[in-house]
Amino acid sequence: MIELKNIIKVYNSNKILSKALDDISVSFRDKEFVSILGPSGCGKTTLLNIIGGLDKKTSGTLSINNVDTINYKDKDWDQYRNNEIGFVFQSFNLINNITVLENVELSLTLSGKSKKERIKKAKEALANVGLLSEINKKPNQLSGGQMQRVAIARSIVNDPKIILADEPTGALDTKTSIQILNILKEIAKDRLVIMVTHNKDLAEKYSSRIINLLDGKIISDSNPVNEKYEITSTIETKKTSMPFYTAIKLSFKNLLSKITRTMLTILAGSIGIIGVGLVLAVSNGVTIYIDDVQRVALGNYPITVSSSVKTSPEVSIYSKLEEFPDDNKVTIVKGNSKYEHINTIEDEFFDYLEGMDKSLYSLINYGTTIKMNMIYKNDTAYQKVTTSYFYEMTENTSYVNKEYSVLSGKIPESAEEIALVVDSYNCINVSLLYYLGMDYEDIESLSFEDILNIEIALIANDDFYIKVGDIYYSNSRSNYENLYNNAIKKLKVVGILRIKQNATSEIYSSGFLYTKALTDFVYENAQNSKIVTEQIANGYNKSVTTGEPFEDVVSLSSTQYKSYQYESLLYSLGAIKQINRFYIYTEDFASRLEIEKYIKAYSNNESNVILSYSDYTSRITNEFSTFVTVLTKVLIIFASISLVVSSIMIAVITYISVIERTKEIGILRSIGARRKDISRVFTAETCLIGLASGITGIMGMYLLSSPINKLVKNIIANNTSLTTGLSTFNVVKVKPEFIVILLVGSVIITVLAGLIPSIIAAFKSPIKALKNE
Ligand code: ADP
Ligand code: MG
Repeated sequence: MIELKNIIKVYNSNKILSKALDDISVSFRDKEFVSILGPSGCGKTTLLNIIGGLDKKTSGTLSINNVDTINYKDKDWDQYRNNEIGFVFQSFNLINNITVLENVELSLTLSGKSKKERIKKAKEALANVGLLSEINKKPNQLSGGQMQRVAIARSIVNDPKIILADEPTGALDTKTSIQILNILKEIAKDRLVIMVTHNKDLAEKYSSRIINLLDGKIISDSNPVNEKYEITSTIETKKTSMPFYTAIKLSFKNLLSKITRTMLTILAGSIGIIGVGLVLAVSNGVTIYIDDVQRVALGNYPITVSSSVKTSPEVSIYSKLEEFPDDNKVTIVKGNSKYEHINTIEDEFFDYLEGMDKSLYSLINYGTTIKMNMIYKNDTAYQKVTTSYFYEMTENTSYVNKEYSVLSGKIPESAEEIALVVDSYNCINVSLLYYLGMDYEDIESLSFEDILNIEIALIANDDFYIKVGDIYYSNSRSNYENLYNNAIKKLKVVGILRIKQNATSEIYSSGFLYTKALTDFVYENAQNSKIVTEQIANGYNKSVTTGEPFEDVVSLSSTQYKSYQYESLLYSLGAIKQINRFYIYTEDFASRLEIEKYIKAYSNNESNVILSYSDYTSRITNEFSTFVTVLTKVLIIFASISLVVSSIMIAVITYISVIERTKEIGILRSIGARRKDISRVFTAETCLIGLASGITGIMGMYLLSSPINKLVKNIIANNTSLTTGLSTFNVVKVKPEFIVILLVGSVIITVLAGLIPSIIAAFKSPIKALKNE
């Protein structure tokens, strides 16, 4: 039983107070058909809304089954509306973009019934109002009377104990009104029906009780409750909650029903996404291009670090002279060059170099030379080989593979294997053959096969030098055949290499390449040879090749100290590896600055050599790395701007959609949807829009990227003669991860942008929302 005591409702609009209900006390039986009559504005709707929990009273008590509702929370009212109350409105308040059946199902969905049960119950309710044949129509395909019957079916589908009908026949003709009243009368047999109406005659004919209202007061009641009340039923407290699937379905149907507007919304959203996508792709394309440019530009300009031997400052005459003198005499310089040590970079520096960040460079190539004893057998004789044109190959064979094509054979791998490098015209200089010991006079060309047949004998120091008395001599030519046959290794040409057309750097000029394994082998062998061990034991006191002690040699132009003579001898015997230069290849300008800092930080005061650092590109290095940083930042700013613009666009569109759907919010609330459910519907809608905008945006980005690329290529072609590198430049370059970023981003931004409007929607008061047309 519903019991109202001293209910007062005061509206406060724009600080003007108006009393809609003035001390109403009335009770309703569990089963009766009550009509409320009264002139417009007397408070009928207000009364109904308070009973139905759509509106809050200002003061007084509203008891349901003898329980005061003073402690009801929002959630309790939602449950009460969903389980206990069915509303029927003058203007039907059906959701137009879903079917009749779905409209009726909706409140069952909210109370969490299964799909099967929902359809069964909804069909039963529609059968009760005689509309089973129209269930798949949309509400706006029905007549007014039919729509009101759908509304009644919706109100009874959940089997509520109370039906509240606010002028249900107000918009209908008399004949249809009678139909509706018959249905309501039938329904009222086992529940309470409270109907507001203007039609006194019909009210008297169909209802069991008539209450007249005037100016917010009850002025008459034809059948007031006098009997003692017994509680026959208790309030059910089933939870109401809208499944996310329903939210998605509602939004999807709503979007479909306004397909043109939805398409425009998606288009607007996707423009933002296209903008962000293109900026991302352009920044990727430009970054790739800049990296390429740097790689190509820097490939031929490695950083060179070379060493020179320290000279004692006090012996330099130049330190006493003035530069650009004014006097009119010319000074004669004697023996100015001082040679104290041979020029080779010490091991400490290599250890230091090992510690440098490997990501800064692509290759460090050492200019290593070591002396070897080699004999070549030509058609007529055995010849000693001169080591000019022999270079140690870097151990980084993948780099060699990248820059050189193997014309025949393969890249050397072991100490026995060497390769011949030819220039880009497949040429080698004749002097290479001369130093090798080949009969060069009549040769015009060599076949790859000829070259791959070349074999060179490596001779150990112990075989090559013979000791006579105290002194070591090189073996005489007459013994070369013997030496050749007793070689410790036969070096075989296993490959012919040529620089690639698109190579970024030419790290070797034409000549023979041997492996580091061979260097190590020769060095090891030399270190252990008799001639070297004996020389090291002798120190400066005695040279094994002359029998004399080492002396400083002073000539007119230079002074060669005995230490220098000693080291030179060991070097010529293969016992010292000479490295006086190395090349660092980089792929970008920024790392060159790091490398320069790192190398310049090295200092070893005890070292015999001074390291000098040179970078041909240093002048542009600074400028270029600043340029790249600035460009990257500018692109990021552009991307952010388009992101902000598109979010604002989406936010505005979502907000408009909320305003448009206010009525639906009211309907959902009146059948018991919680605030959460409302915001869920809008979140679902923005999710769908975000997804669709994202997909459209990505397609748009792909569609636009090829014409933009063509356009930029044309501009480049018309404005530059340099086509290499630039000709393959795609300014828009999409990475696969962009698709994920854009799709996820689009959904997140749209949902975030729709969050505020959907919260506003959820907090709209149900009656205000319903009034909205
Ligand atoms: P009825 O349904 O009998 O025509 P209502 O219950 O709708 O009357 O309204 C009763 C009174 O309360 C009227 O004077 C109306 O102007 C006022 N009223 C109704 N709703 C509001 C509201 N939301 N804000 C301010 N005044 C309202
Ligand atoms: Mg009214």
